[in-house]
Amino acid sequence: MYGEISEPLAADTASGVLTIDLSALVRNYRTLQQRLVPTVAAAVVKADAYGLGAAQVVPALQAAGCRDFFVAHLGEALKLRPVLAADARLFVLNGLLPGAERQCADTGIIPVLNSLDQVTNWASVARARGAELPAVLQFDTGMSRFGLSASDVQELALYPSRLRGVRVLFLMSHLASADEPGDPQNADQLASLHRFASAFPEAELCFANSGGIFLDAAYHGAMARPGIALYGGAPTVGARNALSPVVRLDVRVIQTRTVPAGARVGYGGACVTSRETRLATIAAGYADGLPRHLGDKGAAYFGEVRLPIVGRVSMDSITLDISALPPGELKLGDLVEMIGPHQTLEDIASAAGTISYEILTRLGHRYHRAYR
Ligand SMILES: *Cc1c(COP(=O)(O)O)cnc(C)c1O
Repeated sequence: MYGEISEPLAADTASGVLTIDLSALVRNYRTLQQRLVPTVAAAVVKADAYGLGAAQVVPALQAAGCRDFFVAHLGEALKLRPVLAADARLFVLNGLLPGAERQCADTGIIPVLNSLDQVTNWASVARARGAELPAVLQFDTGMSRFGLSASDVQELALYPSRLRGVRVLFLMSHLASADEPGDPQNADQLASLHRFASAFPEAELCFANSGGIFLDAAYHGAMARPGIALYGGAPTVGARNALSPVVRLDVRVIQTRTVPAGARVGYGGACVTSRETRLATIAAGYADGLPRHLGDKGAAYFGEVRLPIVGRVSMDSITLDISALPPGELKLGDLVEMIGPHQTLEDIASAAGTISYEILTRLGHRYHRAYR
């Protein structure tokens, strides 16, 4: 019975339709891979492929030739293993907690090692097995979040035996400002990565995220790790987005009404109508990933017509001003566009004061999900 609760909702009873275009996803993968040649494009599929469904996204990318996948946590990697091709590799970005090494090694998952302790623990599991175990070494080039520090690297250079048993596949770091090509932090991080890497002359680099792919080829290394660009998000702030939209979100109209001037709309009476207004209530709210910050700011679209959000966003509904439409045009059960050709992921994110990543990863599970 509980199994059924997690089943996707059928189209006719769902509050809306989340359409995920897997052919656009594959097109984006190919666009990125072509731009990167000879660098290999991996795919970052953490957080259930940015909310779009790793169980669908990973097989689609594998069919297009992608063989390298990154998630954040070991738990995510273990869940993904059943859909992974036999010759594909799965990397865990956030490293391993002490004690998790055995399970990681047993399942052939490759950790990104982010501290000296993680290196030590991985190496000792490898030596205990009398086998080499693969890993990625991450350096902290300026985010103060993950990775070995300059003194950690000195330590490894001084005592290379600490790495005995570990086959270093890549030296990795992560760009903090890659979506802003003019930010000098990019060049600083690149220089810092090269400084670290000089201690490991034979290893290859894994550096660029989506934004980094659209910087100079010097940032590409041997393997890049795009996430958001695969899913159609803009990799560079303010630039034309060369990627295809992957997500479309349409939400159902469940009530319409006409209210006089002076009517209060929604929680807190935050909005008071200044004239007679035709309103529609739609069947999604902040529990469905439409941020509360869209209240009195965002909009939906019906055809070409913009329908402003009035009042606060509720948990399960949003009220729209539909006065711009001819009376009777919008009917119960009709769908209005929240993300689509009239309102991009970036549009709705900026109306909510957030980023495309947050919109995608919060898209709820009360929509019918239609994979194309
Ligand atoms: C999430 C993540 C990525 C992907 O970043 P995008 O900006 O979505 O391309 C790459 N590398 C690391 C370490 C990450 O955490």
